Amino acid sequence: MERHILVVLPHPDDEAFSVSGTIAMYLDQGSTEVTYACLTLGEMGRNMGIPPFANRVTLPVIRKQELEASCRAIGIRDIRMLGFHDKMIEFEDKAKLDGSIEALMKELNPSLVITFHPTLSVHPDHNACGAAVVRTIGRMTADRRPTLHCLAFANNHEQEIGKPDIINDVTGFLKQKMASIQAHKSQFQAAELLGNKKLSDEEIQARFGMERFWTYRFS
Ligand SMILES: [Zn+2]
Repeated sequence: MERHILVVLPHPDDEAFSVSGTIAMYLDQGSTEVTYACLTLGEMGRNMGIPPFANRVTLPVIRKQELEASCRAIGIRDIRMLGFHDKMIEFEDKAKLDGSIEALMKELNPSLVITFHPTLSVHPDHNACGAAVVRTIGRMTADRRPTLHCLAFANNHEQEIGKPDIINDVTGFLKQKMASIQAHKSQFQAAELLGNKKLSDEEIQARFGMERFWTYRFS
């Protein structure tokens, strides 16, 4: 049972494939608060929808609306859009980045934080987001630190950190998860789920039914 979960991810849609089922599962238990802090609006994304319905100017507004729709689908009511620049997280002033995460830690006192692994998450924004969370929590005294669960995707990630120690079966929450994915209409990843190709229930369960996390160990 978690009192309050803080999810920190850099892009609208990062939540959809990786944690939406887990969050829906916790919210279904009734006594867990969830806050989703999204660092950017994904405004540098190259995908504009299929067929395109966004452009460079409208994309941030559209992605903000998609993020809100995704959170509604999952059941998340507390969304914090932190206003950092997409594709720039690794170059952000670390004091400013860490400070915004630290402020949330102080305000919310989460029992569990979920973010990307600081080196095994492929996209520089993902790694830099995870690194900021690890730095911020690492500065807390050990007795005050929340549990930290990381997402990892890099090809070599199991050689580096082994098998995930948390595997959540979210097959009971695929309705929320698929609605979260489909809320991000402008994004390419969602296209195959929105287009002509309709996945069977078995395919959906096989592809989206498990969510995997690695507990971060502060040494
Ligand atoms: Zn991302």
